[in-house]
Amino acid sequence: MPEYEGTVIRPPSEADSLILQYTIGCSHNRCIFCPAYKQKQYRVRSLAEMEQDILECAPAFGDARRIFLADGDALAAPQEELLALLALLRRHFPKLQRVGMYANAGSILGKSVEELSCLREQGLGILYLGVESGDDEVLAWMRKGATAADMVEASRAVKEAGIKLSVTVLLGIAGADGSMRHARATGKLLSEIGPDHVGALTTMVVRGTPLHALQETGAFTLPGPFALLAELAEMIGHTEMRGLFYANHASNYLPIRVRMPHQRAETVRMLRELVQREDAFLLTPERSRRL
Ligand code: SF4
Repeated sequence: MPEYEGTVIRPPSEADSLILQYTIGCSHNRCIFCPAYKQKQYRVRSLAEMEQDILECAPAFGDARRIFLADGDALAAPQEELLALLALLRRHFPKLQRVGMYANAGSILGKSVEELSCLREQGLGILYLGVESGDDEVLAWMRKGATAADMVEASRAVKEAGIKLSVTVLLGIAGADGSMRHARATGKLLSEIGPDHVGALTTMVVRGTPLHALQETGAFTLPGPFALLAELAEMIGHTEMRGLFYANHASNYLPIRVRMPHQRAETVRMLRELVQREDAFLLTPERSRRL
């Protein structure tokens, strides 16, 4: 098996996929909450390096049906190289059904819909986009490098190209004061985007990040567990979409999975009741939460 460079992250839904590291780090790498790739200088690995990894994996994983291309933002790689890599993958993994990768609004908008469609024809089946918030002030503050309008435009391009879109949003990232405004704006943005899946994660303030420094000075206060559930209820209540809204990441206090729109009203009611009762017994214990 090839050796990964540093820690490799993948979406929960790629747990059974073969993970190949195509990029090192993240092309943006500026979000104030994100500890993921701070030690890595972004680069796209060469086709020769990838072929070496593929040849090492193929004997054991030749039947792989799903491959995830790590690290952050593999879509930022040059189009011709990406197409050549997808062709290599299809040649060595004949049962391959889907290739997935992370993207950001900039890397999506750096490609035309025609280019995205070509990638889809060659095997790119799903993109994971970190939306985080629908509130432009919050997006600018967290240095996301994209506005809500950019997120909508990028998402439309992905959908037009026929690629599945899974997005993540961050509970708590607007702090205690901005919580409800962030929830409503994010629900509105998700309604405009209409993703196939939404994953709501809870902000965890990691030592060494700019967000941690802000928390230390008192400039950022994370909402408490029940305020976070109230934020989630408000967000779901403002989201109109067809598909799955998950909040079952290990960072969350209450794992839920909502089939939208059918289970929306019932979920919002359940969350609000829970917030009123403040029954801590139902929450994931602090020591069990993780990124
Ligand atoms: S774009 Fe994603 S991986 Fe890159 S810094 Fe922001 S949150 Fe982290």
